[in-house]
Amino acid sequence: MVDKYRSTMAIPEFKSINDETCGWVHTTSKAASFPRLEQDSQADWVIVGAGFTGIAAAYRIAELNPTDSIVLLDAEQAGKGASSRNSGYIVDITLNDGGSTLADEQTQLAKNKLNKAGLDLLRQRVEQYNIQCDWDESGKFHCAADSRNISKLKNFEGFLDRAGLEYRVWAKEKLSARLGTDFYQYAVQTKSGVLVNPAGLVNGLIENLPDSVQLYEHSPVIKIDDGKTTHLKTNNGSVTADRVIIAVNALMPQNGFKANRVFPLTLTASMTRQLSESEYDAIGRPEPWGVLSASSMGATVRLTNDRRILVRNTVEWWPGLSMDKNALAIRRERNYSGLRKRFPGLTNLEFEYSWSGNVCISRNSKPVFEQVNDNLFLAGCYNAGGIAMGSLFGKLIVDHALDQQSEELTKVLNQDKPSLIPPRPLLDIGLLTRLAINRHQGKSET
Ligand SMILES: Cc1cc2nc3c(=O)[nH]c(=O)nc-3n(C[C@H](O)[C@H](O)[C@H](O)COP(=O)(O)OP(=O)(O)OC[C@H]3O[C@@H](n4cnc5c(N)ncnc54)[C@H](O)[C@@H]3O)c2cc1C
Repeated sequence: MVDKYRSTMAIPEFKSINDETCGWVHTTSKAASFPRLEQDSQADWVIVGAGFTGIAAAYRIAELNPTDSIVLLDAEQAGKGASSRNSGYIVDITLNDGGSTLADEQTQLAKNKLNKAGLDLLRQRVEQYNIQCDWDESGKFHCAADSRNISKLKNFEGFLDRAGLEYRVWAKEKLSARLGTDFYQYAVQTKSGVLVNPAGLVNGLIENLPDSVQLYEHSPVIKIDDGKTTHLKTNNGSVTADRVIIAVNALMPQNGFKANRVFPLTLTASMTRQLSESEYDAIGRPEPWGVLSASSMGATVRLTNDRRILVRNTVEWWPGLSMDKNALAIRRERNYSGLRKRFPGLTNLEFEYSWSGNVCISRNSKPVFEQVNDNLFLAGCYNAGGIAMGSLFGKLIVDHALDQQSEELTKVLNQDKPSLIPPRPLLDIGLLTRLAINRHQGKSET
């Protein structure tokens, strides 16, 4: 029995949060543009949010019910939220912090299987539509610069052994040659993760949306009236639909969903210009790579296919969600310090782009996946790793709405729900304290 959630819901005025300075967006060929919703219309389905989750939902509806009409609405340019702003790791397995219980490992492994299912879905679409996104199956390097984090990596190896997952250990000398920096002491390279240019991937998925999908950009949903059918209002139009999927991830609380269960954290990243031939020579002409830190507050760093270096080393509680130029300039300095530590010899290398983006977090790291009422379905909160998981959840939320059965769907439905979080200002105090402690502990890896 599903509880009635609400009959009418007004969403506070939507404020654009996407800055125009995302490096992936600027270095990828321009995406097609789509109209605003400027009429009153009807559809079998409405999907709110055109990121990996909403897009995957649209593909799945078209696959199962090809004649159903689908309206896909985004408040901003489609795909230009977190789905373009992330670091481009389609993760398989993430670092186990060590000292974990058997139950933790089983949870980790179950998550690995779901991630793999999401990754396989994406791989299939990339191949089918020949999406140009620098798809790279070389895996990712989990790296440590200090001894405390090296022991975390050794625990991680134990877990990978028990799980039968393929990996390679890199000691300092070979690692320095492979990456072109001698900052790191030790690494565990897991083999089945994929690196991409996220803007290339999401643009490719948008360009190949099925014909039954009408995409409207810059059309924030500002009111949802829920009855036998659901009526969604945007600034200049409306849609009435039989079924609605909400796929707004970190913006769930801003849209009136799950404010007592999930919260956004804001990350900032910077990307350099392309390395010159002499700079590339100076670091030994390495192949592209992606490094994830063994510390949760450590830096994510990539050498991209077009020879730029990306650094993402800030995580903040920033309830305004978007950063203005001044706030970004301060974070850019922090990103810069991460770049300098790793590449002290590249003295003239500057960042060309700096941007911010939001991830959705729950206290117990559980996602949101549910039927809110008869017509309304909600999926999101991937706790920072949502390229694969969002793609899978978008598919599975449609399966759930259409009563399709599968092992994956059962697993997702049986997961624990996000636990309650305290109201503000207690939430602010708790998050600021926790992040400050983590930041201090992870200082050597930022
Ligand atoms: C800096 C950064 C680095 C990250 N790195 C990684 C990584 O390496 N690997 C990984 O797997 N994940 C990573 N993530 C997380 C990943 O990007 C997200 O989990 C994923 O993009 C979520 O996709 P989504 O479709 O659910 O949400 P989003 O991409 O956020 O899409 C939601 C959409 O909803 C729209 N929307 C919101 N409200 C409304 C409304 N009222 N009306 C209409 N539309 C609305 C928004 O405009 C947005 O386009 C990172 C995130 C950030 C910010």
